[in-house]
Amino acid sequence: MTARIIDGKAIAADLRSQVASEVVRVRRDHGLTPGLAVVLVGHDPASEVYVRSKHKQTQAAGMASFEHKLPADVAQDKLLALIATLNRDPAVHGILVQLPLPRSLHAETIINHIDPAKDVDGLHPHNAGRLAGGLSALSPCTPLGCIILAKTVHASLEGMNAIVIGRSNLVGRPLLQLLLNENATVTIAHSRSRDLPQLTARADLVFAAVGKPEMVRGDWIKPGATVIDVGINRQPAADGKTRLVGDVAFQEAVNVAGAITPVPGGVGPMTVSCLLVNTLRAACAISGLPKPAV
Ligand code: NAP
Repeated sequence: MTARIIDGKAIAADLRSQVASEVVRVRRDHGLTPGLAVVLVGHDPASEVYVRSKHKQTQAAGMASFEHKLPADVAQDKLLALIATLNRDPAVHGILVQLPLPRSLHAETIINHIDPAKDVDGLHPHNAGRLAGGLSALSPCTPLGCIILAKTVHASLEGMNAIVIGRSNLVGRPLLQLLLNENATVTIAHSRSRDLPQLTARADLVFAAVGKPEMVRGDWIKPGATVIDVGINRQPAADGKTRLVGDVAFQEAVNVAGAITPVPGGVGPMTVSCLLVNTLRAACAISGLPKPAV
């Protein structure tokens, strides 16, 4: 059996075009242009690539994109003052502070100063708490993308056995909550979990968000299961360059799973598309408009 490959690139592109259509509609009907402000501190090369891509895709969706680049040695007070300005700015509906931040800055304090209504990364405790309480919330983008991908395979996740491997605030924990909202039965595993292969073998849905290259082996997977691989790990390749691999041993799992995301080209492209979804939703909510169609 060879699994269906879930084409995250195509699904993310389709989502972006749905967002773009809704942006046209809210501008035409309500004079609203959703705006996203991204704050980049320092010169982390991976972060610079992510921020460029967010800027391009935000503009391509017809939204306003505001970039704020600050030096790595910026004082925390100065960054907090910028966030306060963005919180007040009526043209800005989403604020994202690119992580990781330099060590001199306290990420939690900074996130806590973002207006929860504009917290399109879904990391503010207000949104995390609402999500955990089963209330409407801005949810972190990568877990949102994972759910959308799983639902391209299964129209409903209700009653399915899911395992989430990893319990970070960015991925694993919000994914657990989103799966509960979908009425899945969820096991959440982490570095202290016992007998991970056996736990994984029970799952119809496997979400791997660990950061350990190819840790989840093919013989852990229940035949026919859907596998969503969040991991992005850079490894040395035979040609002296590097290649990206996920947290799942793809070449093994593809022979057992029913459907699987590749790395790259699976969850990765969904994250920015979901950021655009969150910005559109935030803009509509702040402006007192009904939830958009996407
Ligand atoms: P993280 O904060 O480092 O969390 C990793 C989680 O994995 C922790 O909960 C940890 O458990 C658990 N873990 C570590 N070793 C384990 C083991 N041997 N067995 C079971 N669980 C283990 O990482 P993250 O931010 O969630 O990211 C996870 C991966 O997703 C990374 O590869 C990252 O690059 C990728 N990622 C991709 C996207 C995307 O857009 N595609 C977005 C975000 C992250 P403890 O809690 O017990 O330490």
